Amino acid sequence: MNVRTGWLYGGVTTTTTEPLTAADRCDRCGAQAYVRVVLPVGELLFCAHHAREHAPKFAEVATHVHDETDRLLAEHGAGAGAAN
Ligand SMILES: [Zn+2]
Repeated sequence: MNVRTGWLYGGVTTTTTEPLTAADRCDRCGAQAYVRVVLPVGELLFCAHHAREHAPKFAEVATHVHDETDRLLAEHGAGAGAAN
C-alpha cells in the first residue's frame, strides 16, 4: 500500500520549521537569529550578518534553510542591515 499522499511526505525534510523567536540566538555572535540552517547533524542559527557571511559554506551541506531575514525589514525598518 502506498500511503505517500503528497503534502505529508512531499517535503525534502521532516524537520520542523517553527518561527524563530527572540530567544533564538546567533551561534556566532549571540544576536537575535533570523536564519536557521538545518544540517544532517543538527542545526545552526545565524543573525542576518552571519547568515550572509557563512552562506557559501552552509549552502553546500544544508538540508534546509529557514530564512526570516525579511522580518528585519518588517520589524526594524530598512536601516537594520537587511537592505541592499
Ligand atoms: Zn551573528
